[in-house]
Amino acid sequence: MLTAIVGTNWGDEGKGRMVDLLSEKYDLVIRYQGGNNAGHTVVNDRGKFILNLMPSGILRPTTVNIMGPGMVIDLEHLFNEVARLRAGGIVITPDNLKISERATICMPYHPLLDGLEEDRLGDKKFGSTRRGISPVYADKYMKKALRMGDLLHLDAIEQRVRDIVEWKNLTVAGGYGAESVDADKMLKWLADFGLPFADYICDTTEYIDAAVKAGRSVMFEAQLGALRDIDFGIYPYTSASTTISAYAPIGAGVPHLHLDESIGIMKAYSSCVGEGPFTCEMFGEEAETLRAAGGEYGAATGRPRRVGGFDVPASRYGAKIQSCTCIALTKLDVLSIYDKIPVCTAYELDGKRIDRFPSGEELNRAKPVYEYFDGFRCDISGCRRAEDLPKAALDYIRYIERAVGCPIKYVSVGAERDAYIEMF
Ligand code: GDP
Ligand code: MG
Repeated sequence: MLTAIVGTNWGDEGKGRMVDLLSEKYDLVIRYQGGNNAGHTVVNDRGKFILNLMPSGILRPTTVNIMGPGMVIDLEHLFNEVARLRAGGIVITPDNLKISERATICMPYHPLLDGLEEDRLGDKKFGSTRRGISPVYADKYMKKALRMGDLLHLDAIEQRVRDIVEWKNLTVAGGYGAESVDADKMLKWLADFGLPFADYICDTTEYIDAAVKAGRSVMFEAQLGALRDIDFGIYPYTSASTTISAYAPIGAGVPHLHLDESIGIMKAYSSCVGEGPFTCEMFGEEAETLRAAGGEYGAATGRPRRVGGFDVPASRYGAKIQSCTCIALTKLDVLSIYDKIPVCTAYELDGKRIDRFPSGEELNRAKPVYEYFDGFRCDISGCRRAEDLPKAALDYIRYIERAVGCPIKYVSVGAERDAYIEMF
């Protein structure tokens, strides 16, 4: 069984919680894109763990975790993240962690460039995480990046590293006027933080292929929501990589395999971090009420997130481009604050109602069309079966299924592991 677990919206759909719950069923957990620019917090009996680069199966002793060719890996961050997990009692060996030889290395000058550009932009900045993700993906496509497999041949690539650093300094020193990057320091950094992982670097294509042939089940773990995909998201307010499930087999190293399932994580209302079009956005007191009820503040920064009602055009689009075979609807319990549940059922563009999710300037101009559904005004966090739910909650679930055109298999009603309902 090959399953992708993906976000259908702007991110923060409750993916961490669902991945933690569902990953139990899989032998392999594979990260197929992104780097340490996002992360999630998992709380279990051994404590609280923050995962930025590690696939989430790393906290389970029998799961094999793979960092695929589609990832960008900051070696120093990897080194520190692994050390932190080990200090928390997590065992990490080449048996349970495998890193693709094709994954791209995020070098110290990538976060440096990210920061220099954000500083240059000043007020107009994008709100980059400054982790170097866009610069390193740009270098990958410029064919000026180093890959994990290069670490196994450091002597052979020395001249290439020097040539790349020389080219990089045209921008760092020449363009931004910052202090030049030192090639010797880069070579030392690669050795210091990369060589400890030499035994973890392998051909993930061969490994996964053999595992699948032997009947192992595979979960592909996405890190960002559909609307952050470089091609299909709200460009340029996207991430620099392909986040969607169709890319999972490629980013994992097994382009010849096909997904059986794509589980879309969708929140019962909307939230968005950072800049960019967010049509369903609420403001003022209305927003504050929902934000407080859902605890929608940045996990790392505590910054208030933008919030809105469930967004039908965006979610239907998200479910489609993620090729979702089913949905996990999260945080339904949060909506118990409402007598009438606000839902953005369509957009209005230039005075006309539209159902599609537009892009570019059209998306910037779109206005929300809000409608109101009966609320359930009671605590549903103890519900464990569909029959336990009040009628209004069930009606809301059925409405969303019809509106996005995809069955809802799981409904999460609380942050705790067992606070969910399996609908079928
Ligand atoms: P992620 O990045 O997609 O994992 O999502 P967030 O960064 O927004 O984290 C989700 C937060 O909501 C976490 O603090 C979870 O513990 C919490 N959470 C997840 N599912 C539910 C739910 O069904 N109900 C409630 N009340 N909280 C939830
Ligand atoms: Mg999050």
